[in-house]
Amino acid sequence: MIPFSDLKLQYLSIKEKIDAGIERVLASGWFILGSEVEAFEEEFAAYVGASHGIGVGSGTEALHLALMACGVGRGDEVITVSHTAVATVAAIEATGARPVFVDIDPLSYTMDPSHLEEKIGPATRVILPVHLYGQTADMDPILVLAEEHGIKVIEDAAQAHGAEYKEQKAGSMGDAGCFSFYPTKNLGAFGDAGLVVTSDPVMAERLRLLRQYGWRERYVSSIKGFNSRLDELQAAILRVKLEMLDQWNSVRREHAALYDTLLEGAAVATPVEMDSGKHCYHIYAIRSKHRDELREFLRARGVGALVHYPVPVHLQEAYGDLGYGEGTLPVTERVAAEVLTLPVAPEVTEEQIRQVCHLVREFESTRGLAR
Ligand SMILES: *Cc1c(COP(=O)(O)O)cnc(C)c1O
Repeated sequence: MIPFSDLKLQYLSIKEKIDAGIERVLASGWFILGSEVEAFEEEFAAYVGASHGIGVGSGTEALHLALMACGVGRGDEVITVSHTAVATVAAIEATGARPVFVDIDPLSYTMDPSHLEEKIGPATRVILPVHLYGQTADMDPILVLAEEHGIKVIEDAAQAHGAEYKEQKAGSMGDAGCFSFYPTKNLGAFGDAGLVVTSDPVMAERLRLLRQYGWRERYVSSIKGFNSRLDELQAAILRVKLEMLDQWNSVRREHAALYDTLLEGAAVATPVEMDSGKHCYHIYAIRSKHRDELREFLRARGVGALVHYPVPVHLQEAYGDLGYGEGTLPVTERVAAEVLTLPVAPEVTEEQIRQVCHLVREFESTRGLAR
């Protein structure tokens, strides 16, 4: 078995520190929005290079609250991509705004800025690029267009903890950056957790109100908010793991480099790392014309090969009302039909990666596909 990730193994590698953090919280008797959360907010914002961090309940809620903090609501439009986790679009819909999809770049799989301007209209409030798979979107042209049109930019950095664009960390470039700490992310909690970073003090203040009933002081709501809080146990765990993040990301990058080398000349396309950035390989996605067969071949041999994501959001039944039919986002649709995710988590060993690559070669030679 070569699992996609092994969170138990990861826990055991840092067990003492994690257990100490958990015990500290249990002994404190304080469980929600306390000193651990405050410390983590500061440490994570500093890591990203932003002035403020606001801990919330999940990555989806981080996006939802950041959109609300920009004043997004019914009648507004938010431009994003369809090749993403459905959470990105769910967060937009939760505000009452309408998601508008732009196609992706065929090499980076992130928002193609050359198609962006034609999507901007009078109702556009926010551009929401997704740093997919651990690689940032091409931010400069996005930020320039947003500035020209007086639109805010919110980064979906849920897959990009520690990724860089021109030496700036993912999440630090737009008006706000949204992170998820879902257990399998590059930085993962032991449950749901999320955080928004921003360097705009007004935005930060609004987010702090929004996450807890709009309370400026206890029981006194100055705006309409709701409940999306980060708890002390998750924050204590995340503080321990944040210390490991750079090391874990470099192992992911080494794994990716090994895959690149071992798959050279194979009939699959390996991921392309843009010159402008530093990929953190949340996901190592190859492309194959025979994706479904290859996936079955690998899974039958115990390899945790997954597809991110098999059906683009605009073609999902739930989002049919948005009116995007088949063929409206051709690059997105082609990529969704061909991508296959191979195990790249830090706990995966070099030997396992060699085995996976060997199996890919075996698949190709049995089907006469080898180049
Ligand atoms: C994981 C993820 C989210 C949502 O995060 P949750 O914490 O699961 O709510 C949003 N966007 C992207 C791109 C993600 O990968």
